[in-house]
Amino acid sequence: MARHPGRPHRHVSFASPTLRITERQHRRILAHCYDGLPDEACGLLAGPVDGRDEPTGVVSAVYPCRNAEASARTYTVDSRDLITAMRDAESRGDQLIGVFHSHTHTVAYPSPTDVEQAMEPAWLYVIVSLKDGEPVLRSYRIRAGEIAEVAVVLERSVTSS
Ligand SMILES: [Zn+2]
Repeated sequence: MARHPGRPHRHVSFASPTLRITERQHRRILAHCYDGLPDEACGLLAGPVDGRDEPTGVVSAVYPCRNAEASARTYTVDSRDLITAMRDAESRGDQLIGVFHSHTHTVAYPSPTDVEQAMEPAWLYVIVSLKDGEPVLRSYRIRAGEIAEVAVVLERSVTSS
């Protein structure tokens, strides 16, 4: 069983791959975003990749990280947290496949700064908006300045953490 955490507006098709996170991972991401207030919070995602180093969309680990900028408007994943997450992902035979961050007062859509800073064409860029009462989580590919939304499916299974 799976459900969409929010209905996309206006999009008729999604880029691949579909991001698949467990409800536990979803809760962990949201909790870290709330913990970071009033600043933007950020973290990394690990998962398997295919033969072309493209993520399959499955998430094997969520790494809450420090925002090195300690800012309500921008984020940079702390470099030590990045190295720790990368080593852990590789020890699982996986890779880092994405990054999440919160938008405290804006919608869950990449800002111009997010697009400029998106250096990893293979990654999934997850944005959590906290601007309304209910958090909104969406995911994107950002390649060569082009934004494409990918679908997010919450998995009920608890086979991964
Ligand atoms: Zn942003």
